[in-house]
Amino acid sequence: MRPPLLNPLFAEINTLPGIGPKLAPLLNRLLTGSKAPARLIDLLFHLPYATIDRQLCASISETIPGEQTTVKARIVLHKPPPPGRSKAAYRIIVEDNTGDLILTFFNAPAARLEKLLPVGEERYISGVVDIWDGHRQITHPDRILAAYAYDQQPAYEPVYGLTAGLFPRVLVNSVGKALERLPALPEWQEPTYLNKHHWPPFSDALKSLHLPISPESVSPLAPARLRLAYDEVLAGQLALLLIREQVKRHRGQARHGTGELVKKCLSLLPYTLTKAQSQAIADIKHDLESPEKMLRLLQGDVGSGKTIVGFLAMLSLVEGGEQAALMVPTEILARQHYARLKPLCDQLGVSIALLTGRDKGASREAILTGLADGSTHLVVGTHALFQEGVSFHKLGLAVVDEQHRFGVNQRLALANKGEATDMLVMTATPIPRTLVLTYFNDMDVSNLREKPPGRKPIDTRIMSLDKLDTVTQSLVRATSEGNRVYWVCPLVTESEDLDIAAAEERFASLKSYYGDQVGLVHGKLPPREKDAAMAAFAEGITKILVSTTVIEVGVDVPEATIIIIEQAERFGLAQLHQLRGRVGRGGTQSHCLLLYKHLGNIARQRLETMRQTEDGFEIAEKDLKLRGEGDILGTRQSGIPGFRLAVAEKHDELLNAARDDAKLALSRDPGLKTPRGEALRLLLYLFEKDAAAKLLSAG
Ligand code: ADP
Ligand code: MG
Repeated sequence: MRPPLLNPLFAEINTLPGIGPKLAPLLNRLLTGSKAPARLIDLLFHLPYATIDRQLCASISETIPGEQTTVKARIVLHKPPPPGRSKAAYRIIVEDNTGDLILTFFNAPAARLEKLLPVGEERYISGVVDIWDGHRQITHPDRILAAYAYDQQPAYEPVYGLTAGLFPRVLVNSVGKALERLPALPEWQEPTYLNKHHWPPFSDALKSLHLPISPESVSPLAPARLRLAYDEVLAGQLALLLIREQVKRHRGQARHGTGELVKKCLSLLPYTLTKAQSQAIADIKHDLESPEKMLRLLQGDVGSGKTIVGFLAMLSLVEGGEQAALMVPTEILARQHYARLKPLCDQLGVSIALLTGRDKGASREAILTGLADGSTHLVVGTHALFQEGVSFHKLGLAVVDEQHRFGVNQRLALANKGEATDMLVMTATPIPRTLVLTYFNDMDVSNLREKPPGRKPIDTRIMSLDKLDTVTQSLVRATSEGNRVYWVCPLVTESEDLDIAAAEERFASLKSYYGDQVGLVHGKLPPREKDAAMAAFAEGITKILVSTTVIEVGVDVPEATIIIIEQAERFGLAQLHQLRGRVGRGGTQSHCLLLYKHLGNIARQRLETMRQTEDGFEIAEKDLKLRGEGDILGTRQSGIPGFRLAVAEKHDELLNAARDDAKLALSRDPGLKTPRGEALRLLLYLFEKDAAAKLLSAG
């Protein structure tokens, strides 16, 4: 249960004076997207992003149209609307020694304006200046103050994100009232750490952000802001650790392989493992042997050699008399993996099966029987693997390739087919470090940053689609020299059919040059034709393969050295990187042509990034900057709450510290029972990590 101390913060905003049935819905829309009634904490965590300087006072001639200013001016003349036209503007002329200015009001009672702006007196007037009929004007000044009130007001006013119909003053007032209800909370941070960074206590931090004394007060790097961001990430890290301990405490199993099959397999490979691969395998072996459940993320760029790492892990399960499954997102990929692994398995005396949605009837029954009675050791498959009706004799390891294509629940559905199943997930879309820490801290991570030796950098160029003819002709030489070419057409329209039509059109036009050397593959082709097209390309019967993005994931044809991506501006960075990874797999120089139709600013930056680097980790960081983290994780990750106070780019250094801090705190005080521990529990509830906090009371 949430500690009662926090209750005032979780009271709904309509318990604040002045927030009634008109204002509450506006605040709900702003603070929770109207999904739930907003609470004081939501209001307080809605931080200002800028300040308005109320004391900076300009002379009228200095004011700049479009900018917020304050002037000190004498009221000269009131010009009410003509009788009978009360909807027309009420204008008031004011002046100082440098010029004059019109104040314009609509629907304002004359009596009020006469009181607010008496002729002959001076007032401080704030608002945005514009030009009307050649004169400076302020329409509806947002503040008009006499000298004594002006001297008393705070110099800076916080500027908040707003929603239609909500006036800044109203929000400022509401926040002010919420601040008055802030309870005194015990300190959950280490005092030495706070002192070192000059960070204020929690409630002071909130106050200094909402009642700024300078523009720096609200900067993302202000001590108060850093403190709050740190509170938030610390709560997140603590919660992840608690959940992870919980997961690991349950259903783990120590798995010891003999090492025989792995050793034999290594001797059969035509290459030696890279250092990074060996390290990843050692990490996995350690996990498998530990009595805790393995949940490991293997990150490595396209072509970094993840498959063999996963396969060796699977072999060690077979050594221990158990089964392992490799799940991939597409049919094509499943077939390719199977085709690669089958010969190895044959030499090793291991039985491997392929299971996809395409298997029906008797052949499917035979596969299922093999899995159920344990005569099949390994299986490669698609979503078909976790469907009902598929059961294993003893599934000990689930390997999930291209994990971002699967939801958490799908991974679990597969793992649940075994007892205490260990899990290895692999991704070629490197997740920026920040996000790994934030969202995947419940996983251990192995990185394959090093590529197998002998790869040449891919020559990447950006070109206008106008040059299409030149490009087409240039392929004559390339193909006659034995190169193979991927030609990718984007999915752009609402209708997949239209996109396929576009790909078919490109196919037809290339065919007029290259005849039977051109192949076509897209998502709506019957499976057998799809396979046939891929096979023809892999064998070199076709030299140019026109496709929609179905080739995106994992497909491996080492002889392909050129990839042309049409309307590359339509693709995200991660996708472009994935596509480009289809080439550069052999030892020959590869090329990537990014053809664009219209290039906006962000798209240009994306393509430039592609030209500048091939490092997937760097690309992912850049992608994060260009897109924001929600997009990278996609809707599939939507179960994970985002941050409200911490900003990925500005506060990511805090994450490392918070992770160490959380680990240390929990190792010293696993039940969070010391005074600091109690305060940390409070922190968990403050950031609504109730589920994690409850694990503490339960355990
Ligand atoms: P990805 O990480 O994209 O899944 P793959 O596992 O498909 O990469 O490997 C890409 C290619 O590199 C494959 O043809 C594979 O046989 C080869 N490969 C993997 N490891 C090595 C290595 N250590 N040395 C040389 N080639 C390797
Ligand atoms: Mg792969």
